[in-house]
Amino acid sequence: MTGERVYETIVIGGGPAGATAARRLALAGRHTLLIDAARFPRPKACGGGLTGNVQRFLDFPIDSVVENAVTETLCMFRGRRTILLKPVGLNVAMVRRDLFDHLLVKKALEAGANLKDGTRVRRLERKNDRWRVETTKGAYESQTVIGADGAAGRTGEAAGLRREKRLGIALDCEVSVPRERFERFKRRAIFDFGIVPRGYGWSFPKGDRFSIGVGTTEKHFPEAREHLRLLIARHESLRGAKVLDTRGAPLPFWKGFEPLARQGVFLVGDAAGLVDPLSGEGISYAIRSGILAARFVDEKISGGANAEGGYTETVEKEISRGFAFALRLAEIFFTHPRLCYFIGVRSISVNNVFARLISGEIDYAQLYEELAASFPGRVYRALKPVLKRWKAA
Ligand SMILES: Cc1cc2nc3c(=O)[nH]c(=O)nc-3n(C[C@H](O)[C@H](O)[C@H](O)COP(=O)(O)OP(=O)(O)OC[C@H]3O[C@@H](n4cnc5c(N)ncnc54)[C@H](O)[C@@H]3O)c2cc1C
Repeated sequence: MTGERVYETIVIGGGPAGATAARRLALAGRHTLLIDAARFPRPKACGGGLTGNVQRFLDFPIDSVVENAVTETLCMFRGRRTILLKPVGLNVAMVRRDLFDHLLVKKALEAGANLKDGTRVRRLERKNDRWRVETTKGAYESQTVIGADGAAGRTGEAAGLRREKRLGIALDCEVSVPRERFERFKRRAIFDFGIVPRGYGWSFPKGDRFSIGVGTTEKHFPEAREHLRLLIARHESLRGAKVLDTRGAPLPFWKGFEPLARQGVFLVGDAAGLVDPLSGEGISYAIRSGILAARFVDEKISGGANAEGGYTETVEKEISRGFAFALRLAEIFFTHPRLCYFIGVRSISVNNVFARLISGEIDYAQLYEELAASFPGRVYRALKPVLKRWKAA
């Protein structure tokens, strides 16, 4: 095999997780190859909402690709009981994924990583302590591999990791509305809870259009298109909107603690199932895991004996422990959406706590503590009329 086909590490997938890992490894001086089936800039089904941690984790500014900032939310339950909320400090950057991901890939190249895009990985094989990565454009070899091939990726399986996944589904589309209407609503995200079973619908302003979607933690979602149509028909800001593009994709929700690395293969982002089980957010976790994987891959190449175990443990500590709280909240929320909507979503104090989570000021463990402290009184107040009726009967 020629020199240009042998690398210290090969990153499969150039989304936020893979591009970040490739940049960090190249900056560390590692001979890195980034492979992606698509050609950049490439589209990706996504709301494009970035939490505060995204900019915090990245080592370069992303302002050039931020289209708008969301500062208020219009929440509703099945199109009714609407409430406009302006949580303190809410500021969600909205991006188009084709442009955002392209920026991240360019930053990986700038750092010295090599890119083969338009190249699909077909097979991953272990050969004499190395990995042979067979692609549509020939084979490559490396000591370590980063599996960043997203929700439908096969790298994990090939390395004997994550044989079972917990896949939900999301469908989104872009719609254009008259300019003056967009201007009126350009800082507003809309959330419709209860519109889909075990999920929600959203509308995010982006550039000069809205990104509308519905997502669920359920495995099957046959009425997704119908729900999406309903969402568009219901909302003032979207009435008469022209639907430009509709895309569906699996959402690999976090399902529990599990090994994420083995024999020099490290899984990151969606390929590692690092999607928030409550909100469906995945970009900041993709980036965070990309950074962590780069650190442990670097250690592995330097001869570290337990880099794989170290990676799994660190992801557990820095990401998945928070997901365990999110999963608990998701169970409560999706089992009792109406009750949670009235006592939680409509409450400005609950929204303020979530705004702090979104900005990266607090993590899920702190959020859970704050909610648990304020909830007993709230639950009591919400149930008071029911208790009264029960006593009177
Ligand atoms: C409808 C929808 C809306 C969402 N909205 C949001 C949101 O608003 N905010 C948020 O934070 N998250 C959102 N998410 C989740 C977010 O999109 C993902 O968590 C994020 O993209 C994960 O990044 P990644 O790098 O792990 O994977 P991806 O971005 O999926 O990148 C994987 C890459 O791997 C490549 N690839 C796959 N297979 C191969 C192969 N065999 N060979 C070579 N390359 C391959 C693909 O071409 C792709 O470029 C949403 C998801 C969906 C489906």
